[in-house]
Amino acid sequence: MDKVIEKAATKEDKRKISLQRASELKEYTSDFLKYKKNINEKMNSRMKKQRLNKEKILKFLEGTDEDWNDWHWQLRNKITDVKVLKELLNLDEKELEEIKEVGKHYRWAISPYYLSLIDIEDQEDPVKKISIPSILELDDEGEADPMHEEYTNPAGSITRRYPNRLIINVTNACANYCRHCQRRRRIGECDQATPLQMIEESIQYIRDNEEITDVLITGGDPLTLTDQVLENIIRQLREIEHVDIIRIGTRTLVTMPQRITDELVSMLQKYSPIYINTHFNHPYELTKESIEACEKLADHGIYLGNQMVLLKGINNDKFVVRLLNEKLLKARVRPYYIFHAKQVIGTHHFQPSIAEGIEIMKYLRGNTSGLAIPTYIINAPGGLGKIPLLPQYLKKNKEGNYVLTTWEGKEIEYIE
Ligand SMILES: *Cc1c(COP(=O)(O)O)cnc(C)c1O
Ligand code: SF4
Repeated sequence: MDKVIEKAATKEDKRKISLQRASELKEYTSDFLKYKKNINEKMNSRMKKQRLNKEKILKFLEGTDEDWNDWHWQLRNKITDVKVLKELLNLDEKELEEIKEVGKHYRWAISPYYLSLIDIEDQEDPVKKISIPSILELDDEGEADPMHEEYTNPAGSITRRYPNRLIINVTNACANYCRHCQRRRRIGECDQATPLQMIEESIQYIRDNEEITDVLITGGDPLTLTDQVLENIIRQLREIEHVDIIRIGTRTLVTMPQRITDELVSMLQKYSPIYINTHFNHPYELTKESIEACEKLADHGIYLGNQMVLLKGINNDKFVVRLLNEKLLKARVRPYYIFHAKQVIGTHHFQPSIAEGIEIMKYLRGNTSGLAIPTYIINAPGGLGKIPLLPQYLKKNKEGNYVLTTWEGKEIEYIE
């Protein structure tokens, strides 16, 4: 290429080569553009169905529009009864029996809002797969605690795997029990906030250990707690001089965006810097309501990141991941991690291969904005921490020189 350009001395020749390259680049993206157009059309039709579903659910639960927008109502009315599902999703007897069977082993619950996103005409609906129990969960491959969390708990409800940062678990309740949940074991049998004394013990541990500069509040879902309980935890953490960063992990932006109230965002804003990591897995989850919730947080100076889990049959597809990440960026959420699904018992049917994950990462680099490219992570078995997985961009040749691989797969020798 360089040599060709050197020979092409005239301005016209340079322009001609640039135009040729530009049309080659344009060609790279044409399949994705078709896909995007198709998904956007589907999302429009889903939005209409979502409105109808909402009316149906409200009628069934005897609620009002005002109830719908109240997160307490959403939590109180989590759907946990197969009869309600039958009515709202048109399930057949076989499906109902299967859900009942799975329910004997694993609990399930869906917020009315998240239920309204299901398109019953879509056989492969990702929202349905993520939220409605499947008989495949009874496959017994995998472990209950592959990360050995019980061995990384130095105090209270803390998980510590790193020198400067740790996790506090503040509840085991969520707005919705995701079928792919990587923390199934902890989600347990009933909704339970971590006992206050255990939270106090955790905070005391952080006070006593000055190397801890970054605290992740997680669960379950911390935003199922009231503003008051949450503020009490955040205030105490903020008062610790060596704590710089406070992060909250929540999926309510996806499953119950009503949670992001004006009161909540004003409270969080007082304790800046606050980082929120959320968990969108598919573009269909980025509804008008979810986007508004993200923007409200961003408007109040709260930094948003997304942690997607790579899941077979949901998002193990380069176009799905690219579109999700581009839509997230537009909603001011920075794609942060893609997690390779852990081998947690009951989630085997969602298990993708590492090769698929690497292919997706290979595709993202170059084809989309660097801002839309998260780090692909596998958790080291045994709770030894996160490990980034990358396509191989760098190798050495016989002469001992580096060979670089470009995003298009061209190999170039690089002499230091
Ligand atoms: C993921 C995780 C963190 C945060 O890691 P980052 O790479 O900084 O986002 C901290 N503690 C534990 C136990 C974790 O699993
Ligand atoms: S919100 Fe998170 S912790 Fe709760 S069930 Fe879903 S994946 Fe698990």
